[in-house]
Amino acid sequence: MQVIHQISELKKTIKETKEKGLSIGFVPTMGFLHEGHLFLMRTARKENDLLVISIFVNPLQFGEGEDLEEYPRDLTKDRELAYEVGCDLVFAPPVQEMYPPRYATFVDVERLTGNLCGVTRPGHFRGVTTVVTKLFNLVQPDRAYFGQKDAQQALVLKKMVNDLNMNLELIVLPTVREEDGLAMSSRNSYLSPQNRREAAILYRSLQQAQEMVAGGERDASVIKETITMTIKNNTSALIDYIEITDTRNIKPLAILEGECLIALAVKFGETRLIDNLLVEV
Ligand code: AMP
Repeated sequence: MQVIHQISELKKTIKETKEKGLSIGFVPTMGFLHEGHLFLMRTARKENDLLVISIFVNPLQFGEGEDLEEYPRDLTKDRELAYEVGCDLVFAPPVQEMYPPRYATFVDVERLTGNLCGVTRPGHFRGVTTVVTKLFNLVQPDRAYFGQKDAQQALVLKKMVNDLNMNLELIVLPTVREEDGLAMSSRNSYLSPQNRREAAILYRSLQQAQEMVAGGERDASVIKETITMTIKNNTSALIDYIEITDTRNIKPLAILEGECLIALAVKFGETRLIDNLLVEV
């Protein structure tokens, strides 16, 4: 397994791979790898000749006062895990390699980024779409793998790939969860034991919503109120949003119809957690 920090070296390796006609599966991450990442990596491993991952805590997608400095990092452990799943190449660039002085170009997907996480984290998706575009240009993957855990991110990136005619297949895989249902996340490591216990309620509240939909409920406000009460009554978390949207425009729905995204974001102290479920009506 190669670990590359420099863009010039990555370009050379990718060129050689392309010349050999090998297919490339790519999993971009911010590192501190967990089973969620490893699931994407194992899938990409199976479906492609070469597995490339990136590990880069992208400053552009963190807002003022967010956890850029505190974000957990462990490149040594990540290398071991990547090696174990059969990764061929880890690209882990320093910040100045990706954003040298006087860097000036950004990619912005409009409309889909104005709701949900786009409200509390202005500029977040612009940071994501910019770095993912750069990584796609560098790695030139045939297939790139993302998690449903970050539902809005996946929809925004799909839109970007389509709108900009990017020459790759974007694959979204289901959320990997802890035994009690909590969606795996590098940020779970911030939680106190009590908050960690309470955090299991997030998924339970989404399942409750799913059951309401299965039982015929179509009124979004009724479902959102139930989720709100479940979270408020059982956790100390502050609710950032609980929203039900369509999956095309990510616009809030009053009445559920078609494929709907039930999404939530809460804060346990400074730790912001997100989760979601898709339901088909
Ligand atoms: P991150 O390192 O948090 O930026 O995540 C890198 C990729 O892994 C993104 O596509 C995430 O959606 C995906 N991911 C993160 N957590 C999970 C999870 N619990 N299940 C599935 N995919 C995940």
